[in-house]
Amino acid sequence: MHEASLAAGVLQLVEDCARREGFVRVTRLRLEVGQLAQVDARALRFALDSLAPGTLLEGAALDIDEPPGQAWCLPCSQTISLPRRGMACPLCGGHQLQATGGTDMRVVDMQVEDA
Ligand SMILES: [Zn+2]
Repeated sequence: MHEASLAAGVLQLVEDCARREGFVRVTRLRLEVGQLAQVDARALRFALDSLAPGTLLEGAALDIDEPPGQAWCLPCSQTISLPRRGMACPLCGGHQLQATGGTDMRVVDMQVEDA
């Protein structure tokens, strides 16, 4: 499962950060999963929840923002909103779209507790 390996990647990132900055626990983790990131936010949340026990993410509140997808439509020469990949331009019905927004998954910020 794709989301499970992403969750493991997030945990890795948090652990690296903890080692660098010397915190022992994360109380709140904020992620951003763009609508076009091809990540299922619910599955990611589930994967993180099942990964958390025994790690420094245990008990952390998890916020997942889902910024809307955007794409540049070539025929229309403008940015349109695109709720998911594979959809046509709502203005011209075309598929010559270049995703420009909501394409990433990233850790936005975290609240931590020091030892
Ligand atoms: Zn268009």
